[in-house]
This record gives sequence, structure tokens and C-alpha cells, in this order.
Amino acid sequence: MKRETGGAGAGLRVFVPTMGALHDGHAALIRRARKLATSRGTVVVSLFVNPTQFGPGEDFAKYPRQISRDLEICRSSGADLVFAPSVEEMYGNGPTTVIEETEVAGPLCGRSRPGHFRGVCTVVGKLFHLVAPTHALFGEKDWQQVAVIRRMISDLDFPVRIVTHPTVREKDGLAKSSRNSYLSPEERRVAPGIVKAMRRAVRENRSPEAIVRQAFQEICLIPGARIDYVEAVEADTLQPLKSRKKNGRLAVAVFLGRTRLIDNIPVPTIRSRR
Ligand code: AMP
Repeated sequence: MKRETGGAGAGLRVFVPTMGALHDGHAALIRRARKLATSRGTVVVSLFVNPTQFGPGEDFAKYPRQISRDLEICRSSGADLVFAPSVEEMYGNGPTTVIEETEVAGPLCGRSRPGHFRGVCTVVGKLFHLVAPTHALFGEKDWQQVAVIRRMISDLDFPVRIVTHPTVREKDGLAKSSRNSYLSPEERRVAPGIVKAMRRAVRENRSPEAIVRQAFQEICLIPGARIDYVEAVEADTLQPLKSRKKNGRLAVAVFLGRTRLIDNIPVPTIRSRR
């Protein structure tokens, strides 16, 4: 590893945890990490498809794996070090100790993917111990994941600062995701309709209920779409958003065929009229 000598950025170790199958969204996180670390700090990227965050019947076995392309993206985006452990190296005979956040992890994906955030917290906790970063970068694409990790590091006193990066999208608005490669050409064609419906719903409505209702109705009309959830939540607590007095997020999970896509966008505050 590079020596962490004096000057601005010195001593910083900026970590980008990923499951590999890297795309422009991950590359943006790594470039941001490089900027934060400056040339004096160290940027570490992990590539690990974590089995414990996949439920039975989910896509662990078929999750895309492309290590040489990932290494090239890490290199060209400014990573100094890549950590790509095997499942055996990470878990040995299987862990009997886990980390479980029990509040922020409850709604949204926590409800539809029981045990998912337990797997995420446990692996991120282990990676934080192994990598010992000063900063860790996460994408807003996984809004709930960031909220859960923030609570975990606060509750368990991990000495890490969390930095978030906006969702990187395709030109047509679809959030970049390793899972987009599962989409058939027809599913890929209609997929941007999800975020378009979300944006329109936020633009055209005032109350959180009306936003959710319109987004739900429009997403239902997308051919092949099956809604897992459409919810407006408080941006930080993820509790249901009751008014526009607090910053919110409109968060959705939608199956297109067998592929589950998630996305979220801001629901900004509105000052009440006199
Ligand atoms: P993953 O490999 O899907 O576990 O993602 C690793 C990190 O990249 C997480 O912090 C994600 O939130 C982030 N990420 C994934 N897709 C995007 C995207 N389209 N824009 C920004 N960050 C992303």
C-alpha cells in the first residue's frame, strides 16, 4: 500500500465498498473518493458479492461477476488498492455473530427483504474493521442503506465519516445499476418510465399521499411492472412523510419481469401558505 505521508489528505483512507459489476455510478464514487483523499491519501475499493444480504430465491448465484473489467475501472477511476476476498475468507465456516439495526432498517426494503440489512450491516462492519477507513463513500441510489449504515456507525462508534454521492443515471433517467443487465430489451425500454412517473408525481402534487397515489397509478401502467412498494418517507428517519414540512424521499421498488429495481428522489419541503 502507498505510504500515507504528510500534507493535505495525508492519513486519509477513503473506502468505497461495492459488490463489483462496476458501472459509471461506482466509478463516480471512486473518483469522488480520489478527490477527497487527494494524492496523499489512499483510496480502497472492495469487490465482494456478499451472500448474507441475499434472501433465498434472490439473485446471489447469477449476480454479474467481472473481476478483470472491475479492476480496470478501479484503476482508471483512481483506486490505490482493491480488496476482493472470497466468501470463505470473509466468513470461514459461517458467522454466528451479526450486526442488526432495528429501526431505520424496518420499512421499505427491510420489509420486503427480511434479513437484507442484517447482511449489509454485518459485512460493512467487518469491512470497516478490515480496511480501517477514515471515510466511506455510499451512493444515494441506496438511500435506506446509507441511513442504516449511518445509524450503525453512530450506535456502535465506528470512527468513520460517511460521505454520500448523488445517483448516477443513464441519459434517459434510469438509475445505473448492476441489475440493469438482467433487463430484456423491452424491459430496458420501459424502465425509465419509473423515474419519470416519480418526478411527475412530485412536480404535480403537494401532499405526500397525492404524490404516492399518482406515482403508484402511473407505474402500474408500465407494461410488465409489478410494484413492491411506492412510499414517501422522511429523508433521515424513513418514517412515513406526513407533510411537506420536512425533507422527504419518494422511494420505490418495482419488479420488471423478474428484475427488482429500486430508486428514490427528493420530496423537497414546501413552506405553508398564509
Ligand atoms: P453495489 O455494488 O450495488 O452494492 O453498490 C456499491 C455502492 O455504489 C453503493 O454505495 C451504492 O449506493 C453505489 N451505487 C450503485 N449504483 C449507483 C448509482 N447509479 N449512482 C450512485 N451510486 C451508486
